[in-house]
Amino acid sequence: MKAADLAELTTAQKKVNALRLDFPLLNKPLTFGGKPRPLVYFDNANTTQKPRQVIGALVSYYENSNANVSRAIHSLGEESTRIYEGARDRVKSFLNAAHREEIIFTRGTTDSINLVAQSFTSLLKSGDEIMVTEMEHHANLVPWQMAAQSLGLTIKVLPFTDEGVLQIEKMPDLWSDRIRLVAVTATSNVLGTVNPVAEIIRFAHERGVPVLVDGAQSVAHQKVDVQALDCDFLAFGSHKMCGPTGFGILYGKKEWLEKLPPVQGGGNMIRAVWADHFETNVLPYKFEAGTPHMDGAAGFSVALDYLESVGLDFIYRYEKLLLAYTMDKVGDLPGLHVYGVAPEKGGILSFLIDGIHAHDLAAFLDTKGIAIRAGHHCAHPLARRLGVVSTARASFYFYNTMAEVDLFSDALREAIAKLS
Ligand code: PLP
Repeated sequence: MKAADLAELTTAQKKVNALRLDFPLLNKPLTFGGKPRPLVYFDNANTTQKPRQVIGALVSYYENSNANVSRAIHSLGEESTRIYEGARDRVKSFLNAAHREEIIFTRGTTDSINLVAQSFTSLLKSGDEIMVTEMEHHANLVPWQMAAQSLGLTIKVLPFTDEGVLQIEKMPDLWSDRIRLVAVTATSNVLGTVNPVAEIIRFAHERGVPVLVDGAQSVAHQKVDVQALDCDFLAFGSHKMCGPTGFGILYGKKEWLEKLPPVQGGGNMIRAVWADHFETNVLPYKFEAGTPHMDGAAGFSVALDYLESVGLDFIYRYEKLLLAYTMDKVGDLPGLHVYGVAPEKGGILSFLIDGIHAHDLAAFLDTKGIAIRAGHHCAHPLARRLGVVSTARASFYFYNTMAEVDLFSDALREAIAKLS
C-alpha cells in the first residue's frame, strides 16, 4: 500500500482502539486452544459485535418501557410505541428516505426480500422475467426462484469476471421486454465487490423496471442515500451493523409499497375485519402483521446513532485501508488464492491456501482466537462459478486493527508450515 495510506491507517488506530472499548466481547478474557487469548473477530460479514450502547438500549427497553405497541391506551404502551415509531424516524433519516411510511420493519434481510418477492408476484404472470446476478446470496436468489416456480417466470443471470467484477456491459444483451424486476446485491458477501448499483438502477429505470437492492453487506459499511440512489427497494438487517438480531428493514418507494398487497395477515396490518373479509391498513403497517420486534427497534435506533457517530465515510475508507494492509501482509504467502480482486471492493477477503481445506484452516485459526468463516457463504452459484466448494473468509469492521491483521498473518504462516 502507498506510504500515505499506511500513515492514514496507522493514525486511525487510536480512534479504533478507543471505539473497541465499547464492545464487551472484544475486551473479555477468553480461552482459545487452551490458552487465554484476545478474540480476533474477522467474521463480520456474518454478524457484527454489539457495543454496550446497543446492549444497554435493549436492557433499558425491558427495564423501563416494555409493553405492546399501537392501540395502547396506557402510558407504558404509549412509551413503547414512541420508541418503536421513533426508530422508524431514525431509519428514515439514516437512509434519507422521503417518507416514514417507506420504512417497513421486518425480521432481517432475508425476510425483507421474501416479503417483496411474495408480494410482487401478484403483479406478474407466466413468461415474465426477473434479472439477478451470479454473485447473489441465496437470500436474494431463492425467493425469486420460488416465485418463478409457482408462476412460470424465467430468471436471467448477470455474470461476473474472473476478478469478481459484475459484467454490467452484458445487461443490454440479456435484457428483454419481459423483465419485470432486477434484484442485485450492492456488495458481494464473498468477493467483497461493490457493484455499480446506481448504474444498474439507471439502466433498468430507463426501461421502466424497478430494482431491489440487497444491502446486507453495504448499508453497514458506507453511506446509502435511497433518494440519491433511486432504488425502488432496499433490504438489510440490523445484526450486521451493530444492532440486535432478528430485526431488519425493507425500504420501498411509497408508490411501489402502495401497489403491493400484504403477505401476512393479522395484528396491525388490518384496518377493519368482518367474518368474511378485511380492510388493509395504511403504510407502513400493512406489511407489519403481528406483535413486532419492539426491543429490536429500540436497539437498532441506538446502533444507527453509534454508526453515525463513528462515521460511515470513515468506516468505508478504514476497511479499504485495512484490506490493503492485509494484502501487504499475506499477499506473498505460498499457495494463496484470493477470490475477488475487483477495484471497488469492501473489507472482505475470501481465499484458499493450496493443500489446506478451508474448514481446517478456520479450525486452526480458532485455536489462535481468530474467528473467520469457511464454507460456501450461502452463495452456491458463485462458488460454482469460481470452481470451488468452499473458501475461507476474513471480513472486517471498523473495530478491527492492524495488530489483529498481524496476528492473522502470523497464524496463516504457521498454518502453512503445519497443515499444508
Ligand atoms: N444478502 C447478503 C449479501 C448477505 O451477506 C446475507 C447474509 O450473510 C443475507 C443477504 C442474508 O442476511 P440475513 O441472514 O441476516 O437475513
